[in-house]
Amino acid sequence: MKVGIDAGGTLIKIVQESQQGRSYETELTTNISEVIAWLNANTFESISLTGGNAGVIAENLNTEAKIFVEFDASSKGLGMLLKEQGHHINEYIFANVGTGTSLHFFDGQQQHRVGGVGTGGGMIQGLGYLLSQITDYEALTNLAQSGDRDTIDLKVKHIYKDTEPPIPGELTAANFGNVLHNLDVEFSPANKLASVVGIVGEVITTMAITVARENKTENVVYIGSSFNNNPLLREVIEDYTVLRGFKPFYIENGAFSGALGAIYLS
Ligand code: ADP
Repeated sequence: MKVGIDAGGTLIKIVQESQQGRSYETELTTNISEVIAWLNANTFESISLTGGNAGVIAENLNTEAKIFVEFDASSKGLGMLLKEQGHHINEYIFANVGTGTSLHFFDGQQQHRVGGVGTGGGMIQGLGYLLSQITDYEALTNLAQSGDRDTIDLKVKHIYKDTEPPIPGELTAANFGNVLHNLDVEFSPANKLASVVGIVGEVITTMAITVARENKTENVVYIGSSFNNNPLLREVIEDYTVLRGFKPFYIENGAFSGALGAIYLS
């Protein structure tokens, strides 16, 4: 059994692979000592580490482990998952929507980091907590799904009331810009959370398509655990990417790209 581990800021992603097949597991980074104990209690053909907390794991292991740069590991694993899932694209932007968001251009040979932005899963959890007092990830994301952004976010159509707007009316003109026009309505936690997911998704998409244009590709691939239990985030990002004229790709198990790729960089 070979094991690949991507120990990130929030989550530890674990991939195990043998002739029999592949498994994917996730653990909170706050439980890193349990992952170390599990690694020390078992025998593996190889242990490959990546991510910001890879060093913490390596220095507490009884055996040797290899550490890889997470951007290269993610790129390698993502290339494998794309092929396995029938997406035969050669050049693409990939946006890794983790605690924060990292943007990369894959040129057919290798990845180049082309940007990053602080809107990501960490913002959904942190700002989400400030607006709802919910710390539990599943409860937070469940509630966001039923929210309505209409009284919170200002759309282009809200500004162009009687005339045809020069850009699609459904586009967001100002995230949270409709709040002061609706002080007579109640802003429910669900609505506020849906708007947080909205701004995170729209900022990420705006960044991703900007670097896609710069690098002359129309393909934008989205990965990261921030899509877990959050179909609304996926919908915001996919719809907005299409609206702006680019091709979005959402990859199953994309959050495990780094852990999987680390195994194969060895
Ligand atoms: P990182 O490598 O930075 O840890 P990930 O790709 O694992 O990044 O994404 C982390 C994000 O995933 C969190 O900020 C959160 O929004 C989301 N997430 C998904 N599942 C969970 C969970 N069970 N507990 C906490 N956060 C989760």
